[in-house]
Amino acid sequence: MDTLYKCYFVTVFFQLAYSQVFDTELLARSTVAKSRANNVNYRLPSSIIPLKYDITLEPNFNTDTFSGMSSIEINAVEEANTITLHAYQLTINESLIEVLDANGNSTKVTGVTESDIADQQFYIINLESALQPNQNYTLVFGGFTGILNNDLDGFYLAKYNDVNGNERKLAITQFEPTGARRAFPCFDEPHLKATFQLRLVRPINYTSEANTPLEISARIAEDKFLDEFQETLPMSSYLVAFIISDLNYTKKLHRQRILARPKEIEDGRADFPLDQANQVLRALENFTGIAFALPKMDEVAVPEGYFSAGAMENWGLVTYRELSLLYYNESTTETRLESITSIISHEYGHQWFGDLVSPLWWKYIWLNEGFATYFEFYITGVVHEDWEMMDQFVIRNVHSAMSSDQTLSTRIMNQDAGSPSEISSLFDVIAYNKAGAVIRTMETFLSTPVFKSGLNKYLTKKRYSAAQPSDLYSALQEAADEAGLNLNVSKIMTTWDSTPGVPLVTVTRNYDSGSVTFTQNRFIATNPNYTSDELWYIPITYSTKSKADFNDLTTDIWLTTATASENLGLSASDWLLVNKKQRGYYRVNYDESNWKLIIDYLNRDNFENIPITNRAQLIDDALTLARSGRVNYRTVFELLNYLSRETHYVPLYALFNNFDYLRRLVQHSTISQMFQDHFVTLLENVYNKLKVEESANDSHCDKRNRPNVINSICLLGSAACRNDTLTLLRRWRSTGTNLLPVTAEQQILCGALRNGFEDDWNFVYNQFLSSQDSTRRTRYIAALACSENPDLITRFLNQALNDGSPLAVYRARILTDVYSSGNVGLRTLLDYIKSNLTQIAEARISVSALLAAVANYLNTEEQIKELQDLKTAYPAYGTAIDNAISRVESNVRTANLYLPAIESFYIGSDSSSALITSGRPQAFICIAISFILAMLAL
Ligand SMILES: [Zn+2]
Repeated sequence: MDTLYKCYFVTVFFQLAYSQVFDTELLARSTVAKSRANNVNYRLPSSIIPLKYDITLEPNFNTDTFSGMSSIEINAVEEANTITLHAYQLTINESLIEVLDANGNSTKVTGVTESDIADQQFYIINLESALQPNQNYTLVFGGFTGILNNDLDGFYLAKYNDVNGNERKLAITQFEPTGARRAFPCFDEPHLKATFQLRLVRPINYTSEANTPLEISARIAEDKFLDEFQETLPMSSYLVAFIISDLNYTKKLHRQRILARPKEIEDGRADFPLDQANQVLRALENFTGIAFALPKMDEVAVPEGYFSAGAMENWGLVTYRELSLLYYNESTTETRLESITSIISHEYGHQWFGDLVSPLWWKYIWLNEGFATYFEFYITGVVHEDWEMMDQFVIRNVHSAMSSDQTLSTRIMNQDAGSPSEISSLFDVIAYNKAGAVIRTMETFLSTPVFKSGLNKYLTKKRYSAAQPSDLYSALQEAADEAGLNLNVSKIMTTWDSTPGVPLVTVTRNYDSGSVTFTQNRFIATNPNYTSDELWYIPITYSTKSKADFNDLTTDIWLTTATASENLGLSASDWLLVNKKQRGYYRVNYDESNWKLIIDYLNRDNFENIPITNRAQLIDDALTLARSGRVNYRTVFELLNYLSRETHYVPLYALFNNFDYLRRLVQHSTISQMFQDHFVTLLENVYNKLKVEESANDSHCDKRNRPNVINSICLLGSAACRNDTLTLLRRWRSTGTNLLPVTAEQQILCGALRNGFEDDWNFVYNQFLSSQDSTRRTRYIAALACSENPDLITRFLNQALNDGSPLAVYRARILTDVYSSGNVGLRTLLDYIKSNLTQIAEARISVSALLAAVANYLNTEEQIKELQDLKTAYPAYGTAIDNAISRVESNVRTANLYLPAIESFYIGSDSSSALITSGRPQAFICIAISFILAMLAL
């Protein structure tokens, strides 16, 4: 199970861990639909449903185990001779199982069976006489025990060291999707809602928290208390949560508190998130029109290393990674600041979408995660109006969804799943990002007021219950009908939730008649000629030069067939731009003439008449379409020329998100220097606006833009950037005070060390040694890798491979940082591999993963020869080197295909074909990070 995709916040986590521009490539790996493993039935029989659980649990911190007892009120829907429920890794005392009818009469248990299918996790109780339909019974488990495991799943053990260095233990839960059965026997399916009455036994110096408020606390022994919590509302088992710990908490703000390590509370790390949580909850109540259902809300910052996801939306007791929630004044970047509010918005969105109304089955997990992703941006934008969150939604959610959803193997939104591992695999980019983007499309064609009204109806009707997409669509239909909209919501939305992939709308114009033809196809990145029968109901919106209105988002044309034409009466000089503000989940391509009209406008006229989201759309679509052979790179470079006028974060993000691919394509060619000089020129305007230090006039997006700009323009060789950053580093060196803006600290140091001297490098290295902050330490590591002095890089690599060095634990990251830092780093690493491949393997680095990752940066015949020589020198790694050679050969073909068009842009020759219509460009997926993940898997 890839726990990173469990109910949480994909983009934020990766942005915290790695640079922003990698995230869309990263997510691609999660989209492959898992095939059904076998024909095992993983669903419980429908004969019995739970009504109420009464559970008592006691952890034992000496033995790291727990014991418990429970009773479950059940209803027999049908006559049943057996009761089947879930239990996993529990030792249940069979002799203490009882089944009682409403009068207290016992039905004899003749035996129990534990499913011998490992991942079915069924516990079957066989009865002498059948339970009767429509009768209630009480199922009693008089005793069971389990392990406080180290898997960060179920009821598990966590630890931290207190300020005196003493180890402290705590017991905590993570149940989504199938962990509740590891804590107590239960009907562990999301639609089987019941109420939960929980009792926890805790040591005297600990506290306990659960979904509901503590009701009674009683001392039951010298050193123990029994805490009893209020009975919950009807809820799914995966949302039950509790914690027994000596964490401390903030004072209550309205009905909310944050629990964290006592030192973190004392230092005020929870104050900012608590304030944000308060605003977020209010904003969600306003949006949904439905008050938060519970009397209290606790948020837990789980000590680092003891939480597998980013956060989990347990009803009334949300858990987070400590680093995802707490605020560190001295090291919290603007990105992290935004992510704190965003992650709270995501988890609080679930309190309605997931907790109040739960999915009927995991197949519909997008009803949880899609809405939570939407709120992650939307509600953060309500709390911080100046953060431009719904514009950021386009670049950080829609574009990342599309980049993952453009393969043949991508799954549909309503993908079914059975086994626990299949269920876990559904927590992916489709459930989060794509569903979020499709929900935004739906909001747009319905209009926001109708959308809100429909959601209110849906939540009201399905509260304390479980829902499927048709429930959502019928509520939205009701709202649409009330507003007089002539739409069939279900018919439209079924094409989106049950069709795999992302549509490409191709726009071709007749410049004589003024008519326009729209054609839809599924967009497959590796096959420009892909055709199939898939059809979506696509809401086409468009704007033109003569009527540049991007604010009216009413659907202009519903494209429901493969192709449709309409006479828009456009003059031949008028551009046409489709998909206003990129609200629709689809890409757009144009005929060459229309591309030229748009490009001319961007380069000559008031380009700001086209909104930032559409400028980002044009960049992302053009670069993606070129990479897949559908648009000539020369056209794309002409479009990118307008960037000399661009300063806004949103369109530039679309460039930087695609830039690494472009740079790799060009970096070993004869036009490499021209390319670098050109992009330095294009980025000078924004660089001169932002510079390297923060200014009082900075917007939130300026602060987010600066690190990206510095990173790219310094890498490309800008003397101004390299000098400015080095000046700041030397100021730090001379004054002894670090005044670098924390949001761009890594990029500034990286830029500075490109041309810096050995003393500068040593200074940053010493900062790495002396820093206690893990986030800062990784920033300094990344900066050290930017040096363009091969001797320093070689020394860096030698140290990284030395087990006794403080750099040893960062080994995989350092190798990645070096080859991705630019040509010098790549060249130095290649030479290093030639001399040291055996030592690299002995340092427990996967040679095949390393070579596969490096190969993505290579695309010349000379480099193939180098790898062949490497194979001669190291025959033991022949297979790994052969695989790398195949990758480079593919890259050479890609370069041969696309470089002529780029060369023609720079050199002016006309040798390129107008449009490339064949070829399978190398996907270049996930390079740097897949390597790190491969390392970690060792
Ligand atoms: Zn979520």
